[in-house]
Amino acid sequence: MPLYCENCMKIVEGPICPACRNRKLREVEPGDFCLAAEVHYMQAEMLKELYRDNDIPCTERSVLGAGITVSLGVNVGYTRLYVPFDRLELAKALYNAYFNAPEEQEAPREVLIGHVYRHFKGGLYRVEGVAKHSETLEEYVVYRKLYDDKSLWIRPKEMFLSPVDREKYPDAMQEYRFEPVDENGTEDPE
Ligand SMILES: [Zn+2]
Repeated sequence: MPLYCENCMKIVEGPICPACRNRKLREVEPGDFCLAAEVHYMQAEMLKELYRDNDIPCTERSVLGAGITVSLGVNVGYTRLYVPFDRLELAKALYNAYFNAPEEQEAPREVLIGHVYRHFKGGLYRVEGVAKHSETLEEYVVYRKLYDDKSLWIRPKEMFLSPVDREKYPDAMQEYRFEPVDENGTEDPE
């Protein structure tokens, strides 16, 4: 069993606690509260909620920051959160999943000039370019119909890139009004 410092509420490498020099270390017990995270108090609120959702009991201690803005009534402190040793691993995993996971952010959609797009109603179009309106400077996508009369169309870029109106078209087969396709007409794998 790892060693536990009761002063620091931490698992430590023996025989002396490196933080408080405590020599009276003992083997940790499942219910010993151990430091799981030291986070900004705003994050602590989120983390406590995560623990709560996962039935992890938790105690906390506030640690003031450099003390500079305390007089302004602004909490710049950090919060240390402690969970029982037998829940420590789960608590740390939750922390990592929440705070260290790379944000799943979608790349901003851009218009691919020269690319073929499928309108959600099925028609294929090739984007010829992006043009600016001379008076409003608004950007428009210029695109050519690849069927029937092969006519040339323009539409505000923002609208071109927008999702399908689900209320109006609940059965639409694609998420966006126009989606890029490869030359075989299948989904662009990105
Ligand atoms: Zn200690």
